[in-house]
Amino acid sequence: MSKQFRHLKPYGKGAFVDRYTTRASELLKPYESGAKGAYGLVGLPLSKTSISHSGASFAPGAIREALSSYTVYSGEKGANLTEEIIDFGDVYLSPTNLIENQHTLYKALVDVFEAEVASNYFLLGGDHGVSYAAIKAYAEHQGNVGVIQFDAHHDLRNTEDGGPTNGTPFRRLLTDKIVSGENLVQIGIRDFTNAKEYHEYALEEGVTIYTMADVREQGIQPIVAESLATLAKKVDIIYVSLDMDVLDQAYAPGCPAIGPGGMDTDTLLQGITTLSEHEKVKAMDIVEIDPTIDIRNMTSRVAAYTILQFMKGKSL
Ligand code: CA
Repeated sequence: MSKQFRHLKPYGKGAFVDRYTTRASELLKPYESGAKGAYGLVGLPLSKTSISHSGASFAPGAIREALSSYTVYSGEKGANLTEEIIDFGDVYLSPTNLIENQHTLYKALVDVFEAEVASNYFLLGGDHGVSYAAIKAYAEHQGNVGVIQFDAHHDLRNTEDGGPTNGTPFRRLLTDKIVSGENLVQIGIRDFTNAKEYHEYALEEGVTIYTMADVREQGIQPIVAESLATLAKKVDIIYVSLDMDVLDQAYAPGCPAIGPGGMDTDTLLQGITTLSEHEKVKAMDIVEIDPTIDIRNMTSRVAAYTILQFMKGKSL
């Protein structure tokens, strides 16, 4: 007869179970054939193309894990989040073929979007370079895409100096005519973080820029409302690209590029919920978190929280 050990539990599982508490990580369900749902999630673990040293390839796992820190209940809304998040897993990437990897991300996401399994998507980077592939695949499937980018940086660097790094995704989206400048909104752009040429390039291309001074002076809600109203008239679908370094270094120690003068977490979370309440907002990427330099997973926890805020905005 096999012995039952009453006082032991499987390694790694949370120690305490409360009968009334559902952890947000329990919403994650591995993809199975025939699955359909409100939310899909794909990990895009590419960070070797980062200009600065980055372990952002570890972030998709860290963010999923951080979901276990939260419950599914929004007291502000008086509602539980009940919809599953269908987890497609992480894109398999080559350890050496970096340019091909960017194409692999694109092909993987074309497959996912064509399958039409979910109506909303969370795409977890990786460095910001993954957004080029993600938005390209999304635009091909969804039609004319507008992008709202939270970022300290324009990410409009030229590609001559280093190829398709994490500093270039929006430059490439504009030059390849995947997104037009007038359909790109950048929120949280910071001083002493960008070159003058790239600010001017953005304006020449018709990109809408809200600096951190704009965020401080106008507040996030009017900025988000204005961005949605302008974009919704022109595009079929709106994609949110969230570079976590839009946050001040105090709130996002796990970003490779940290600095002062950034957004506070509450402002970002409010912005994400207001965005997701709009019917045309259906996808969000979260990029530039390096769990190997994070402190107590603070930055991955913010990322997990933004996923829940997005779902809160969509919930009835
Ligand atoms: Ca960026």
